[in-house]
Amino acid sequence: MSELNLILLGPPGAGKGTQAALLTADFGLPHIATGDILRAAREEQTDLGLLAKKYMDAGELVPDEVVIGVILERLGSDDARDGFLLDGFPRTIDQADALGARLEEGERRLTATLLLDASDDVVVQRISGRRVCRKEGHVYHLDFDPPKNEGHCDIDGSELDQRDDDREDTVRNRLAVYHAQTEPLISYYDERGLLRRFDGTRPPADVHDHIRATLATLRLEEDL
Ligand SMILES: [Zn+2]
Repeated sequence: MSELNLILLGPPGAGKGTQAALLTADFGLPHIATGDILRAAREEQTDLGLLAKKYMDAGELVPDEVVIGVILERLGSDDARDGFLLDGFPRTIDQADALGARLEEGERRLTATLLLDASDDVVVQRISGRRVCRKEGHVYHLDFDPPKNEGHCDIDGSELDQRDDDREDTVRNRLAVYHAQTEPLISYYDERGLLRRFDGTRPPADVHDHIRATLATLRLEEDL
């Protein structure tokens, strides 16, 4: 069986986390998310991990070459031999180039870059409608899963708040960053024939079915 080497792209709120969980369960791929990997490298005290720690402890952004080093190191581990699912990497064209070069060196290739698409307005509606209860963190949505008593948790009656991260202006800022950083990557992978688009506004199970069908086709083509 050929390797399944995947990148997951998409705006916040498009369901990347859900699809990543389903894909890793289906195919036993390690889910390699940049933040988690940096934390793990720091805990394992690898050379690069310790370097990343210096920046993180100082509250600074970890430089590109350190992030690249940590991720590429991770792709070389045993559990990533049959494939991987990258999430949050690459974020820049430099990172994409570094990834491409490393895969080529190892005579590996990217299977596909999966883009979960959702318009800004859909993302804003999904995220800014979230409300969380003060007591236990139960999650509601004003439009899709409203509480029975407005402003109060169904389970414990405590008040519902909007997290700062979920405020519309915060979400719009994150989307602006996403578009600036990611749009060049979308073209980059599209030009290389690796981009596959999925409608992130569809129910998660439908999106998942569509991704599986696409991957099955890609693997058939590869094995021909
Ligand atoms: Zn609650």
